[in-house]
Amino acid sequence: MSITRKNFFKGLAIGTIAAPFVIRSVVGKTNAQQQSSGIISDRKYRWKMVTTWPPNFPVVGEGAVMFAKMVAEMSAGRLEIQVYGAGELVPALECFDTVRTGAAEMASGASYYWSGKLPAAQFFSTVPFGMNAQQMNAWIINGEGWDLWKEIYAPYDLIPMPFGNTGVQMGGWFNRKINTIADFKGLKMRMPGLGGRVLERVGGTPVLLAGGEIYTGLERGILDATEWIGPYHDYLMGFHQIAKYYYTPGWHEPGTVLELIVNKTQYEQLPSDLQAIIRVAALATNHWILSEFEAKNNEYLSIIQNEAKVEILRFPEEVLTTLRVVTSDILAEFVQQNALSKKIYNSYQDFRVKATKLSDITEKVFYNDIQSEI
Ligand code: CA
Repeated sequence: MSITRKNFFKGLAIGTIAAPFVIRSVVGKTNAQQQSSGIISDRKYRWKMVTTWPPNFPVVGEGAVMFAKMVAEMSAGRLEIQVYGAGELVPALECFDTVRTGAAEMASGASYYWSGKLPAAQFFSTVPFGMNAQQMNAWIINGEGWDLWKEIYAPYDLIPMPFGNTGVQMGGWFNRKINTIADFKGLKMRMPGLGGRVLERVGGTPVLLAGGEIYTGLERGILDATEWIGPYHDYLMGFHQIAKYYYTPGWHEPGTVLELIVNKTQYEQLPSDLQAIIRVAALATNHWILSEFEAKNNEYLSIIQNEAKVEILRFPEEVLTTLRVVTSDILAEFVQQNALSKKIYNSYQDFRVKATKLSDITEKVFYNDIQSEI
């Protein structure tokens, strides 16, 4: 793709911001009066954002509330968004349909929650052994990702926006050591999504438990292992009190993108400055959430190391190699299901290959050979 000004600024729509005095719906004023006041429209909008997170959930729920405050401040109160935790207005997994039908104007969640109805949505959250946060941001914001994401959501009258990233997650909490791939046989593990399918293929049993049930499941032996997020959220769940081993890396979620979805019809009815405010505030939140995960995970890894008796272990190379091969087989089968998944996978894969070549001689060298020696 050639680099053009249009590509460079896409998503931010600088072109529309450069012409801010577009009059939409101010009653009783002439265009000249509105232009001299510099206000596009004084109409106030009251929107609802439903979320897949429990109310005030650390980092991602906090990010949604922060986004709403930012939008209210930037619009001088013309767009106010009320944020609802999961279950306050609708259950977590009804967010997609709630925004699709316009019952709420926005939702925050992650696209892999919708992969049951829209398999290709998986690529805009995370893929086992796939791209990390930095690479996903580059593919979505500066590559082809965002346009493809918009394309698959458009038939549902939705516009997606990146809204944070967890960074590389941890591999999970285990009460059984993983020395070879055979140790996954019969392993009952909380592991959703494509990672769960990989686990199943190597002989494990993925168990789906809601967040609030995982601790008890692990404590009572209903689960032998569970993945969750990273040191901060895992600590808050208390897994360090009941599991023996904390494994790394989170091969199944190397950089999960969180999303904001907006009802397209209602978005398009907003004045262009409010549309721009939403996009810019979403990108600011995208950045804040990733940074907050990094800062809090740094802090809580130290706390876990100091307080808990848990052993932090790395999956053996042979285990990771087998999981990687199985993932590749499952992805090959997955993209055969429909042409759209294949098209998105090809774009994803093309970007990943190039990103890996670059990181081989930049990020990886720095992490492995330089930073760790300081
Ligand atoms: Ca996870």
